Amino acid sequence: MANRLIVFSPKFLLLCRRFFLRPLHSAVPSDLSAIITTTTTSSSSSSSSSAVADSSILDLDDVKGLFSSVSTSKLVRSAVNLHAAGIEPMVDVGLWVMNSRLMNTGMLRGLMLGATKHTFYEQFCAGHDPEGAGRTAVKLWESGLRGMLVYALEHATGNGSCDRNLDGFLRTVESAKSLPTSSVSFVIVKITAICPLGLLQRVSDLLRWEYNNQSFRLPWKLNTLPIFSNSSPFYHTPRKPDPLTPEEESDLYLGHQRLLELCQKCLEANVPLAIDAEDTSIQPAIDYFTYSAALMHNKDDNPIIFGTIQAYLKDAKERLLLATKAAERLGVPVGFKLVRGAYLSSERQLASSLGVESPIHNTVDQTHACFNDCASFMLDKVANGSGAVVLATHNIESGKKAAVKARDLGIGNGNQRLQFAQLYGMADALSFGLRNAGFQVSKYMPFGPVELVMPYLLRRAEENRGLLSTTTLDRQLLRKELKRRLKAAVL
Ligand SMILES: Cc1cc2nc3c(=O)[nH]c(=O)nc-3n(C[C@H](O)[C@H](O)[C@H](O)COP(=O)(O)OP(=O)(O)OC[C@H]3O[C@@H](n4cnc5c(N)ncnc54)[C@H](O)[C@@H]3O)c2cc1C
Repeated sequence: MANRLIVFSPKFLLLCRRFFLRPLHSAVPSDLSAIITTTTTSSSSSSSSSAVADSSILDLDDVKGLFSSVSTSKLVRSAVNLHAAGIEPMVDVGLWVMNSRLMNTGMLRGLMLGATKHTFYEQFCAGHDPEGAGRTAVKLWESGLRGMLVYALEHATGNGSCDRNLDGFLRTVESAKSLPTSSVSFVIVKITAICPLGLLQRVSDLLRWEYNNQSFRLPWKLNTLPIFSNSSPFYHTPRKPDPLTPEEESDLYLGHQRLLELCQKCLEANVPLAIDAEDTSIQPAIDYFTYSAALMHNKDDNPIIFGTIQAYLKDAKERLLLATKAAERLGVPVGFKLVRGAYLSSERQLASSLGVESPIHNTVDQTHACFNDCASFMLDKVANGSGAVVLATHNIESGKKAAVKARDLGIGNGNQRLQFAQLYGMADALSFGLRNAGFQVSKYMPFGPVELVMPYLLRRAEENRGLLSTTTLDRQLLRKELKRRLKAAVL
């Protein structure tokens, strides 16, 4: 409807004309198919001919069909913001300032936060509070997508801030409960928001030591699934860690209680909970929290607690196999959100500073192959009813491959155990393409005051740098649709 009713002022038309006619970057091919080929070839080593040949399942050429539910003003805003996010020098300076001591200067801080609010924040965040995010989720739902509500809380310092964060997550579930059924696919939590970071490091150290020393006992340890494989990184724990002090044990107990309270709330609201993956120094503790909660709460057919596997890690596939196999033996359904991973530079920096091998695959093609392998493995589990997966990716090739395999396995479109997900404000074409192909598709929607979501926005800024970033294709498709609407309005 929007494309029929828009009335453009001459000034606006002039602005759009300048925007459309100016190439985003001289090296970016203007032809759309060239971009799709670029994206695809980056993962060519892992492509199967069936997925490449069967492009019909995911039609990204029909921009009119893809963006039919998006208003023109929203398209223009996204195009401008994603364009800004792709200007490397600007993002570099922004990142430098954000990470520098200059941010302690009141005026500059205000300026930077103000600028962020009207660009990155507006593009990638869903609102200031659970209620605002809920309203955004309903709008998405009206366009056929679902929302993952992500209160952008992370890295709590003590029990006080963990308790306050828990309240925020509980309010989020409450807000999800009040929205139309099925508009919210997940509530998301980061364990670092409900258990102090230092304790997660200590617990991870102890779990690593226990894995390598069978006689070592952890008296506080609950039932869990396998957390490590033989190829997992162990360099974070070079020597035997001290046992937890009584105070640490009590804090660990409190952390567990917070997670269990959240799980209980999600169960009552019938909204699944997905636990994000973070960096390898604390991921063992995060998996430990996740699996022990999943063993308590995942019953019947549909898992309600989902963990996250980062396919950029060399041990990802092995750990996924071990955890699912153990869960099958126990008759517990498991659910995973599968991602590539967002802590690439910090992981590599840490490994290199310690002079050890990086836990990340040596090449990006290996990461792509690992993601596609893990996705294929989980799709088999979905088909035989023993697992559920959220394929959280912007990668077109991975999306296509999974869609083709799901169709070949006869995974019906209404099957809730398979979902695709992209970040709010990114890869909308892929989201709408998958939605048009009949799949369940969600947007990961971080929300919170601008200062709170800053770490998340910095990760996105890092990721969106460079010509071949995910947003290049997004921008091309947005511009194509805007051109089409402009023509339709003028003619
Ligand atoms: C719904 C959703 C939830 C998410 N949750 C989490 C989470 O819980 N934890 C988390 O860590 N991340 C999470 N992410 C972010 C995710 O991990 C990625 O950072 C982001 O989605 C980009 O990956 P992609 O699959 O979209 O792939 P692509 O668009 O193909 O991008 C992959 C990028 O990965 C980089 N890369 C990966 N491996 C290598 C390598 N070996 N060598 C060089 N470069 C490499 C490259 O820069 C490449 O550009 C989530 C993403 C989504 C969409």
